[in-house]
Amino acid sequence: AAKADGRGIHRFYRPELLAGAQNRKQLEDDLRQALASDEFHLTYQPVVSTADERIVGYEALLRWDHPARGPISPAEFVPVAEECGLIEQIGEWVLRTACAEAAHWPEDVRVAVNVSPIQFANPVLPAIVTSAVAASGIAPHRLELEITEGVFLDESASTDFMFRTLKGIGVRLALDDFGTGYSSLGYLKKAPFDKIKIDQTFVRGAVQPGNRNAAIIKAIVTLAETLGMETTAEGVEQQDEIALIRELGCSHIQGFVYGKPARAGDVAEQLKAAAGRALAIGHRTSR
Ligand code: C2E
Ligand code: MG
Ligand code: MG
Ligand code: MG
Repeated sequence: AAKADGRGIHRFYRPELLAGAQNRKQLEDDLRQALASDEFHLTYQPVVSTADERIVGYEALLRWDHPARGPISPAEFVPVAEECGLIEQIGEWVLRTACAEAAHWPEDVRVAVNVSPIQFANPVLPAIVTSAVAASGIAPHRLELEITEGVFLDESASTDFMFRTLKGIGVRLALDDFGTGYSSLGYLKKAPFDKIKIDQTFVRGAVQPGNRNAAIIKAIVTLAETLGMETTAEGVEQQDEIALIRELGCSHIQGFVYGKPARAGDVAEQLKAAAGRALAIGHRTSR
């Protein structure tokens, strides 16, 4: 059936999927195997505070090392996992793994996890989130769930109930890829987001003179501030983009300019080293 995905594209009509039906079937079979064979891992990309360039958290990004094809992008396999029903199991693994790995970080460092609209539509999600948080021992407010505008396709009351239940658990909610979907402002009014993530397509080219993206970013930041929400500019790659984003008032920055997604072990080591440096500076200044 023609089923809408998180970006509002009717997947059934996407020509690359029609052409690659054989490949898709293979991918689906391989995905079924992937969890059991331990072929997934998470990478983590830093999210930095604009004001003081401190790392406030990391976004968990799923990686799949296919035994024959090598690494496959989540942009390719997540839509397939959503369509064949595997995203629920994979998504639960992501939640549990991200919370468990974040438990090794300092307590003021958050972890953000992408949640598919399909997971969001399942009433079991709050129980899974509660269980993942409890098993890891992290405080609920350290977990941020990233949701795309796709969840608003389902206009039933259950969406509102899900938002309230998740907020009740104490986790944070972020609206991901803002500006790429329907961008109806109606839902911003009722959904209790802590943060809006401004899609990287608005950051691209924003520094060029006469480019209209800067004005759009500014408008989103103003809107978010009025609603008491933080903003993260996604996909910031260059120094001059940092300066512009700061000028436009975004509270947070995420992008290759501050770090590419890295393995959990490397992140834990970096955080340990940073804490050590902070401690050394503290000792020096306290004398
Ligand atoms: P997203 O949630 O918007 O994640 C941000 C994407 O932008 C990541 O791509 C990240 O590597 C990339 N990125 C970050 N900084 C830069 C930059 O400076 N320049 C450029 N060009 N790209 C940058 P990635 O890891 O390939 O993930 C793509 C999408 O796949 C994600 O977009 C998210 O929608 C989905 N995804 C990833 N992990 C998961 C997951 O665990 N569950 C679900 N449901 N979806 C996931
Ligand atoms: Mg995200
Ligand atoms: Mg995004
Ligand atoms: Mg994205």
